[in-house]
Amino acid sequence: MPETRSGERRETPRRTPREHARAVRSCTACGLHAERLTPVVGEGPADARLVIVGVVPRRHEDLHGTALAGGPRNVVEEALTRAGLVPGEVRFTSVVRCRPPDDRAPELEEVRACAGHLDAELALVDPEVIVTLGELATSVVLRRPVPLARVAGYRLDVRQGVTLVPTHHPSEVMRGVPEAAKAIRRDLAVAKAVLDGRMGTGAQALSELRSRLAAQG
Ligand code: SF4
Repeated sequence: MPETRSGERRETPRRTPREHARAVRSCTACGLHAERLTPVVGEGPADARLVIVGVVPRRHEDLHGTALAGGPRNVVEEALTRAGLVPGEVRFTSVVRCRPPDDRAPELEEVRACAGHLDAELALVDPEVIVTLGELATSVVLRRPVPLARVAGYRLDVRQGVTLVPTHHPSEVMRGVPEAAKAIRRDLAVAKAVLDGRMGTGAQALSELRSRLAAQG
C-alpha cells in the first residue's frame, strides 16, 4: 500500500475511465467541492505513454475542466512539440481536482484528500513516463517532500517501468523566472528520449550515477 507525503498509507483504487470520471465529479472529500464548477478528471488518451501532472485548477481550468489552460498550457505544448511529442497523445492531469477560492494554494489536507484520485488515474493510464510540474506535484508522486532543485530533469523510478521526470511549473515562465522555459524544454526532451529508448529508466540512471561516483573514488 503506498504512502502520502505525510507518511500515511493510502490505497490505490482500481477504476475504469468511466468510474474514474464519476468518482472525481461526485467527490466531496474536502471542502473544495463546494465552489468548483468543473473538477479536473484528466484529459487525453486513457492509455497515454506520457502523463503530465500539474498542481491545481485556477479560474480558466475550472471553467473548462482542463488540467492546464492559457499561457501555462501553451508553454508546455510548445515544449512537447519541440521535443517531437504530440500534445494530443499526452494525458494532462493535476494533483488537486477542484479550484480553491481566490486561486489560493491548496492546503495539505486538501492535497491528501485528493491524492487517491491521482493514484487511481496513474494506475488506470499506466504510463511509461510521468512529468511533474513543480515541487508539490513531484513530492506527491514520489510520496515524500523533495526539493525540485535537487531532482528537476533527472530520471527517477516511480515503480518498475515507470520513470518520473520532474520539471518546473510553467507558471514560473509566466512570472518571468529566468531559465524556466529552457528547463521545461530540456526536461520534456528527456521524457521523449526515455520514451524512445534513447535514455534509460530511472533505475538505470541511478546505477549510472553510482558507477560514476564510484569511479571518482
Ligand atoms: S479537491 Fe479532490 S478531494 Fe477535494 S472535493 Fe475536489 S476531487 Fe474531492
